[in-house]
Amino acid sequence: MKLVFFGPPGSGKGTYASRVGPKLDIPQISTGDMFRAEVAAGSELGKLAESYMKDGKLVPDEVTIKMFKERINREDAKNGFILDGFPRTIEQAKQLETITEIDLVINFKIDEEIIVEKALGRRVCKNCGQIYNVADIKRGDLHMPPLLPKEEGKCDKCGSEVVQRQDDNEATIKDRQNIYWQQSEPLLKYYREKNLVKDLDVVGPPDIMVPIIIETIKK
Ligand code: ADP
Ligand code: ZN
Repeated sequence: MKLVFFGPPGSGKGTYASRVGPKLDIPQISTGDMFRAEVAAGSELGKLAESYMKDGKLVPDEVTIKMFKERINREDAKNGFILDGFPRTIEQAKQLETITEIDLVINFKIDEEIIVEKALGRRVCKNCGQIYNVADIKRGDLHMPPLLPKEEGKCDKCGSEVVQRQDDNEATIKDRQNIYWQQSEPLLKYYREKNLVKDLDVVGPPDIMVPIIIETIKK
């Protein structure tokens, strides 16, 4: 399966992708994680990416597409993948079409107010990118309890430090939402016209969402 997980920043798509991927035996390809790895490594690409990421802006298409193409052409992505955070612009989608055909776009829908609260609660592993969350959200029937590592501040997967992302502050979160509506929402329309989109309401934490997502994919 060649899947795109789509949704506003903070909709949970990265968390879902990291859990659904292993169940379907396909890799999660996250351009955000790739950029953060470059930033952590202090590479030229990392320095360039950081200058956009810190303001919640998109890294220019040319740079993003080049990095993405190198990743998607690796052996493990031959039989399928979950794209998380790519494509984000129509240009990126068009470039993707020159490489491969997408089977399904899952669009995660969630209230902006909840997104902001969740994004502020998000914590990530500095080393492997595993996502945690300290926010405890209750709204009517929706309950998203915190997702904490077993040991405070330490990643369950690799033992490295769990930190808050530099771009997970209120101002940048709002900027990322605005940029999403300006630049990425038109892409959704583009995919809808190709009949590739299934909408999924975010109704709970990953334990609840993952089975729903898998069912949606298998339908
Ligand atoms: P979020 O979905 O929470 O915004 P991501 O980890 O997907 O977080 O992305 C973090 C940042 O990395 C983005 O704000 C942007 O600066 C950059 N980025 C990630 N993917 C792309 C992409 N496909 N095109 C351009 N910039 C990207
Ligand atoms: Zn880790």
